[in-house]
Amino acid sequence: MSHRLLLDTSSLLYRAFFALPASITAPDGRPVNGIRGYLDMTARLVTDLGPDRVLHVFDHDWRPAPRVAAYAGYKAARAPDPEGLPPQFDLLREVLDAFGQTTVEAPGWEADDAIGTLCGAVADGERIDVVTGDRDLIQLVRDASSGAGAVRVLFTVKGVKELACYDEAGVQGKYGIPAARYADFATLRGDPSDGLPGVKGVGEKTARDLVRRYGSLDELRDGAGAQTPRLAAALREADGYLTAMRAVVPVRTDVDLVEVGGRRDDARLAALAVEHNLESPVRRLAEALGVAGPPSAEVGGTPDA
Ligand code: MN
Ligand code: MN
Repeated sequence: MSHRLLLDTSSLLYRAFFALPASITAPDGRPVNGIRGYLDMTARLVTDLGPDRVLHVFDHDWRPAPRVAAYAGYKAARAPDPEGLPPQFDLLREVLDAFGQTTVEAPGWEADDAIGTLCGAVADGERIDVVTGDRDLIQLVRDASSGAGAVRVLFTVKGVKELACYDEAGVQGKYGIPAARYADFATLRGDPSDGLPGVKGVGEKTARDLVRRYGSLDELRDGAGAQTPRLAAALREADGYLTAMRAVVPVRTDVDLVEVGGRRDDARLAALAVEHNLESPVRRLAEALGVAGPPSAEVGGTPDA
């Protein structure tokens, strides 16, 4: 049975950056904390789960035009990335490339959509584990069924060290709804971090009750009159929002993907590791992957923890 590990690299590097001290730097003083956390997490996951294949998935566009066209507020109020983070994305790509690891992105789309497309094609007998700190991806969870394999989501709990694993029962236990209805639930509840207000007065509990009571958001809108006057009014008021969310909240499962990588370059890997004080995490990941790591270098860099 093939088992793929999909890492939501954009989300995880961001989390690792905030979870680890910025005092972890390259000899030239530039922070490499996020990369170190990401490489160590990958090594741990590879060791623990033993996947046949690992894919590192990046946002190509973190705020895709079609989503913004549908809803201008989508991620409109996001704070800019802190200084020190963006260069780590470029360096991480270089390190993964030298490792011969495969990176994936969907031109014009988010990592969410690239991962959705990969999961949408999960074949019978196949298993995919998605690792992310982006709860939108909960909607991709599915148990194996006839004709299709299983998708689990491993969600970051605190930093990137602890992960909560969601299969269908896990989503049901946490949110009280089937994973296939998570997008409806998220639409009603909203998501402040993405600039999505939700329906006025509807929190997790009401969203869950409504998703359980109605088979779809269309059915809910048609039945709005049966709600309390306040909820009925809020649903009427949210009509445009609910329509717009159809093009915003569901993760795409049909976008074009670009895959890069697969050629390891040990000399370059060793040079990058020394130059950026990444020798220990690079060695740990090489060990987990069962490939020859860079030779332990005696030159350069501060002593490695
Ligand atoms: Mn995302
Ligand atoms: Mn997202």
